[in-house]
Amino acid sequence: MENRLFIGGTWTAAETSFDVTDPSTGEVFASVADAGADAAVRALDAAAAAQASWAATAPRERSEILRRAYELMHERAEELARLTTREMGRPLAESLGEVAYAAEFLRWYAEEAVRVGGEYRVAPGGDYRILTTRQPTGPAYLVTPWNFPLSMVTRKVGPAIAAGCTMIIKPAEATPLSALALGGLLADAGVPEGVLSVLPTNRAPEVTDALVADGRLRLLSFTGSTPVGRKLMEQAAGKVLRTTMELGGNAPFLVFDDADLDAALNGAVLAKMRNTGESCVAANRFIVHEAVAEDFAAGLAERLGALRLGPGLDPETEVGPLIDQRARDRVAGLVTDALERGATLRTGGKPDDGPGWFYPPTVLSGVPVDARVMREEIFAPVAPIAAFPDEASMIAAANDTEAGLVAYAYTRDLSRALRVGEVLETGMVGINRGLVSNPAAPFGGVKESGIGREGGFEGIDDYVELKYLAVGL
Ligand code: NAD
Repeated sequence: MENRLFIGGTWTAAETSFDVTDPSTGEVFASVADAGADAAVRALDAAAAAQASWAATAPRERSEILRRAYELMHERAEELARLTTREMGRPLAESLGEVAYAAEFLRWYAEEAVRVGGEYRVAPGGDYRILTTRQPTGPAYLVTPWNFPLSMVTRKVGPAIAAGCTMIIKPAEATPLSALALGGLLADAGVPEGVLSVLPTNRAPEVTDALVADGRLRLLSFTGSTPVGRKLMEQAAGKVLRTTMELGGNAPFLVFDDADLDAALNGAVLAKMRNTGESCVAANRFIVHEAVAEDFAAGLAERLGALRLGPGLDPETEVGPLIDQRARDRVAGLVTDALERGATLRTGGKPDDGPGWFYPPTVLSGVPVDARVMREEIFAPVAPIAAFPDEASMIAAANDTEAGLVAYAYTRDLSRALRVGEVLETGMVGINRGLVSNPAAPFGGVKESGIGREGGFEGIDDYVELKYLAVGL
């Protein structure tokens, strides 16, 4: 495991370090180099110096680097997966799933790197030509969360390399080691000197202030919570920086009375429990038609109640610990609030005293819509269910939130599926599917869930600037 900063391809010692904790024990298991403003400026020096030559490399060369990195991720899958489980707790099988998912972004953008194009148009007067081309945006600052420590990085790094942008990655405090391992892997895949830095830090605002205040940065791409995203947008406005914002969610999961209930329950388990519920696209509120609400609650309680809680490295484990004590105490508070407001506990509900930050899969039914667990992003394996009399009230409840990342709907009626899919105020809708994430699809939110899209053809858009040349004849 590396305990140095990765600055423009060179492993560099730091003056201070910070601890990384294993959430399944609550114990420190590593100490990591801590970047400050000096290191940030050195990384930006490297990025700025390398930008022109990197932009000039052949698209095929950048494509092949990405392809090699994709292959290396598969070769190193076990090691990467163990590292992420150590840092953020989830079961090893899920970590292996994330390695494969993260690698797919590299493969997808290896394929897109050679497809960045422009247009040739005749000006309406016929007297000159309008040529458009796409050029790399320039040095990019990539800030990522802890919940998917690899894929949230590759979802940004893939298009940055494909487009020819240099970059500085700032991983979350809880998961710096997996980002450092990725930095080394990308260098092994052939990313040239200067192009890429990884700056673990316990002083995120200091690093951000130094980079954003420096006029050489061109893009701030952030994935994380809405409050931090809002702050970074304000800061980025000072330099009119281009920003991508992938922020928090509060996904409604709608089950209509004509749904295939077994399929809805399978989808619900996936949408709720993937990544221990610590996902921006986790089902947050179960909005169920009253005719099927009791059967749905009983079925979900049975399925979630049967899951095995334990350390992520234990092969028997199906649900890991939460990221830290704060997260566990917070979710315990959300459940207490719902019970005080009259919700019924169907399974779970009792925090584990430790060691480690475990909270059991929990199902609540009859939850009032003003309970905190319905209003706030839960980020834990807790499923609140509320019953509604008809389609209109279900849609109104689903849209009654500032968040707009994803929604799920289960129905066997095709017209209803399309009707509901169109009016839900989210960037993504899963219809009879509890999982929408796919590197080939545009991922992102509306309302306070963000700006921009990652993945798909669209995910490269923020890494390229559209330039227009007016050419006289
Ligand atoms: P967070 O906002 O606390 O932190 C995200 C990142 O921002 C971390 O790297 C953190 O160090 C950094 N950060 C915090 N303050 C900063 C500052 N002043 N300057 C620069 N960086 C700063 O979020 P988190 O707890 O790591 O992640 C969970 C959140 O992320 C949830 O809200 C989740 O929904 C969201 N998320 C969104 C998506 C998406 O694609 N929309 C994906 C994953 C997670």
